Amino acid sequence: MQPKDLTSNEAFKGFTNTQCPFLPCHPGVEREFNCLFCYCPLIAYECPGPYQVYTDANGLTRKDCSACTLPHDGYRQSWGFIQRWLEYPQPWSGKPQTDPPMRRPRPQGDGTAD
Ligand code: SF4
Repeated sequence: MQPKDLTSNEAFKGFTNTQCPFLPCHPGVEREFNCLFCYCPLIAYECPGPYQVYTDANGLTRKDCSACTLPHDGYRQSWGFIQRWLEYPQPWSGKPQTDPPMRRPRPQGDGTAD
């Protein structure tokens, strides 16, 4: 197997499950619909998505990600988005999304722009 940094084959970055009865589960996706992140890896972390906050039957505060297309819109684009936000993941505060959405967290002293 070729290391992912060396291969030109990008098939691992996404797929569309055309047999899924819920497809398209998030409205507004314009590129290939990426099902790879069906369960978003950022659900427990701060993220820039347009989530709503609700309390579930067990009294836990959760994100409702129905309106978010970021992990789904284009294989390459959604893959890149998830990789960037997982570089320095910050546990979700449990608070509603801000307006404008929060910027990508970075280690102290990293002055690069997003
Ligand atoms: S709002 Fe979007 S990016 Fe954030 S956790 Fe939900 S699906 Fe992931």
